[in-house]
Amino acid sequence: MGNNNRREFLKKGLLGLSGAALAPGMLKGSFGSAGSMLPELPTRILGRTGIKTPLISMGTADATAPGLIRAAYESGIKLFFSATYYGEGKNEQLVGEGLKGLARDSYVVGTAAPPDGMDMRSGTFRNGFDPEGYIRKADASLKRFGLDYVDIFLFPYAGKKETVLHEGVLKAMAQLKKLGKTRFLGIASHSDTPEALRAAADSGIYDVAMIAYNYKVTDKAAADAAIEYAVKAGMGVVAMKSIAGAGRQKSGPPLNTDAALKWVLQNQNMASIVSGMSTLEEMQKNLAMIRNLKMSEQELKDLNLTLLNNEYELYCRQCQECLPQCPHHLDIPTIMRSYMYAYGYKNTAQAWFTLKDAGLNGNPCESCAACSVKCASRFNVREKILDIARLKDVPQDFILS
Ligand code: SF4
Ligand code: SF4
Repeated sequence: MGNNNRREFLKKGLLGLSGAALAPGMLKGSFGSAGSMLPELPTRILGRTGIKTPLISMGTADATAPGLIRAAYESGIKLFFSATYYGEGKNEQLVGEGLKGLARDSYVVGTAAPPDGMDMRSGTFRNGFDPEGYIRKADASLKRFGLDYVDIFLFPYAGKKETVLHEGVLKAMAQLKKLGKTRFLGIASHSDTPEALRAAADSGIYDVAMIAYNYKVTDKAAADAAIEYAVKAGMGVVAMKSIAGAGRQKSGPPLNTDAALKWVLQNQNMASIVSGMSTLEEMQKNLAMIRNLKMSEQELKDLNLTLLNNEYELYCRQCQECLPQCPHHLDIPTIMRSYMYAYGYKNTAQAWFTLKDAGLNGNPCESCAACSVKCASRFNVREKILDIARLKDVPQDFILS
């Protein structure tokens, strides 16, 4: 077998693996250009951080082995985003193992730590905010990664400006940077994103924003204006939830994920997409996509068709229109996210922890004769809540085993 054939054989054999069977170095050079140790990918600049990032970055929640992280690095991906709540810290450990021994300035690690007792509907803290406790969370996170510092520390669930500009939050975040535990600060936002972006830009301390952004965005003009506002203020913006459930349906026909990702990158203010990739096949498909961002007519048609047909829909737009409609004051957007993690991402642990965040007591939908909620995405929210609520009775030990 010639060298080229052997390389192709190896590459094809690896596709579809979750990374469990990969050893560091296996992919190096397989996809690279001559004379380069790592493959060159199309890049943009992440605002004032100056980081030159490939258009695809890795959200690590779905990675089940360090080998997949290393394979992503060796395929040219530079930014890796984890969170303290992915597998209760186990994911940070896995990312640390995957990057171990590499030159520290050759990759960028970000993580997010949610504050305790946050009410996502109001953006307030049920028991106040403890800056020292928050810094201890960051310390625990660094320990799990096996790093002295992360590159980007994100404050997640940023939505209301009261949260983003909360005195205690700003104090803790500034202290993290001052103590050298992170190089840059950022927010992550699923809902009220335009408000969060503008507040973060005005604060002057946040360098990066990771936001839910996809072709189903409820008010594109408002979202794009806020992104531009943040970018003009020097922030770097990256997108998450970019396939909006495409390819993540509970059932139904496969959807065009390339089209969904290209749609996001048409916005030149978007530095990169943080994509949750669980196989090499998915990774290589995404990396091939960023080499040609031009959208074909067929791709545009595919996205339009998806917009019209929500029969298999899992993605909740987090528009919050349902909140005032439920007499039991359920945090429906967060419960819907849990549902999507369970059925779309097949990530039971993330679904379990998200459901815990929603603070669901019992199952109030059981006692409702009829559901009064009219969802903007036409979800049958009662049906979905009745289904996902069963997950909260599963013990945490079982979820993490
Ligand atoms: S109205 Fe529907 S789409 Fe909007 S946040 Fe509620 S569940 Fe999600
Ligand atoms: S069925 Fe559930 S979501 Fe609908 S109104 Fe009742 S408690 Fe709220």
